[in-house]
Amino acid sequence: MKRLRTLVLVLGDQLDLQVAAFDGFDAAQDAVWMAEVDEESTHVWSSKQRIALFLSAMRHFAQALQSMGRPLFYRRIDDPDNLGSLAAELQATLKKLAPEQVVMTMPGDWRVLQSIRDVVTASGKVLELRDDRHFFITVADFSRHMHGRKSLRMEYFYRELRQRFGVLMQDGKPLGGAWNFDAENRQAFGPEGPGLLPEPVRFQADPLTREVIALVKARFAKHPGSLDSFAWPVNREQALQALQSFIEHRLPMFGRYQDAMWPGEPWLYHSLLSAALNLKLLDAHEVVQAAEAAYKAGSAPLESVEGFIRQILGWREYVRGIYWTQMPGYAERNSLNASRDLPAWYWTGETDMACLRDALKQTLQHGYAHHIQRLMVTGLFALLLGVEPRQLHAWYLSVYVDAVEWVELPNTLGMSQYADGGLMASKPYAATGKYIQRMGGPCGTCRYDPGARTGERACPFTTLYWDFLMRHAGMLSRNARMALQVKNLERIDPAERAAIALRVESLLRHG
Ligand SMILES: Cc1cc2nc3c(=O)[nH]c(=O)nc-3n(C[C@H](O)[C@H](O)[C@H](O)COP(=O)(O)OP(=O)(O)OC[C@H]3O[C@@H](n4cnc5c(N)ncnc54)[C@H](O)[C@@H]3O)c2cc1C
Ligand code: SF4
Repeated sequence: MKRLRTLVLVLGDQLDLQVAAFDGFDAAQDAVWMAEVDEESTHVWSSKQRIALFLSAMRHFAQALQSMGRPLFYRRIDDPDNLGSLAAELQATLKKLAPEQVVMTMPGDWRVLQSIRDVVTASGKVLELRDDRHFFITVADFSRHMHGRKSLRMEYFYRELRQRFGVLMQDGKPLGGAWNFDAENRQAFGPEGPGLLPEPVRFQADPLTREVIALVKARFAKHPGSLDSFAWPVNREQALQALQSFIEHRLPMFGRYQDAMWPGEPWLYHSLLSAALNLKLLDAHEVVQAAEAAYKAGSAPLESVEGFIRQILGWREYVRGIYWTQMPGYAERNSLNASRDLPAWYWTGETDMACLRDALKQTLQHGYAHHIQRLMVTGLFALLLGVEPRQLHAWYLSVYVDAVEWVELPNTLGMSQYADGGLMASKPYAATGKYIQRMGGPCGTCRYDPGARTGERACPFTTLYWDFLMRHAGMLSRNARMALQVKNLERIDPAERAAIALRVESLLRHG
């Protein structure tokens, strides 16, 4: 190759041949740079499933680049000369290749953006950052949406996007005459359970993935979780198959059961597409289009399709806007002054609370838990206990295969922990064990009673819920959406309050 014109940087969550950084790519004078480094698996204690997914998907993408004849500088993690961090690897590459320019698509992590920008600047070049077209809107669009608003609400943001992109719209009005169908959606299974569920498509490891699995088992042996069930899509073809299988078999019931739980059933009617979306094996536009097309073809009802599209066009875009407009300060926020340590059993699942045991064991086994398990089991417990948000953030970023900071942090810190003081969510998602029982949690087989708040059999969620209300009564009483809960608290007499405090003390003593 003559003098290198452009070095295109591709990170582990930018695995699309059409990514903006490739615009104008000329194999005769440009090259791609990718690096596997220990730091990305150790800055938080990443689970084996998460590490394996990123490495396998990166290696499959490298193969695709090579088969297209795109020159590639690829550093493997097991290369003895590997320098261990993206910054060090990039610095060495820039010194060696001296490209005229360096181009990258907007990354998914503020820390990574800063370190890459610093290295490129120190080498005397300017990093050309391009917008990520996998999202419907840019961060600048989100800032404009924020401008002049006293408070942000996902619902209004989502309606704006529905109108702007003409999704599920007719003559300027929402299809079906309503923006949401919560009354039809969000049901629990009856006592008989979900019955026979459609199996999601899972992928057998090919030789490349098997090689990565062996590497992760050896190199990251002490990291959490196991790889026995690894079956995530690792390339574009598999991601498209996963999308098609969801649209055909699970989308029709997605809406109705999107908030339901059932013991021993990790997938239910969820799409399992978050990792493929976040690694950019799938594009959010094509996922939304596929769901809308299923409605138009009559193969999925409007309430399910709307419920699903709301997650992607609504929540996913919204949390990205929050992340990039609020960082870096956002990661430090702790509006409830929560300071307790994350219980050590979050890393093992060894607890006698059946709902937490199920959600944690499943998380460690598959690198996956559905939204209600994350928000209303693992997240809720940490909120009620008062776990320091940064510790919980590190846990969520470690254990899930779809975890990238732009999406994980606002969900953890904002939605689940109310640590941003209400920027993301209009009130804390606080509930007792009765909520978990109602939505299908395993209370029937648990040693605790979700209806009891004091005494030996009191469900820790229920006890901690009342303790949470007592600890934060002043702040909660100023929130109109918490009025009913605060009123219920006022009905509790001093003797009962003392019994709750005693039970909390005993729970804390026993870890
Ligand atoms: C504490 C906490 C941490 C979370 N961490 C992550 C994370 O690291 N990565 C991640 O992708 N999602 C995260 N979420 C959001 C959500 O739980 C997952 O996207 C979802 O469970 C992934 O499973 P699925 O693909 O089967 O989703 P489905 O239930 O099938 O939903 C469809 C898609 O909608 C999108 N989506 C749904 N809810 C959200 C949301 N709240 N924010 C952003 N996108 C959403 C996802 O892309 C998902 O694939 C978190 C939620 C909570 C409460
Ligand atoms: S009783 Fe409480 S701890 Fe046990 S499963 Fe139900 S909600 Fe979870």
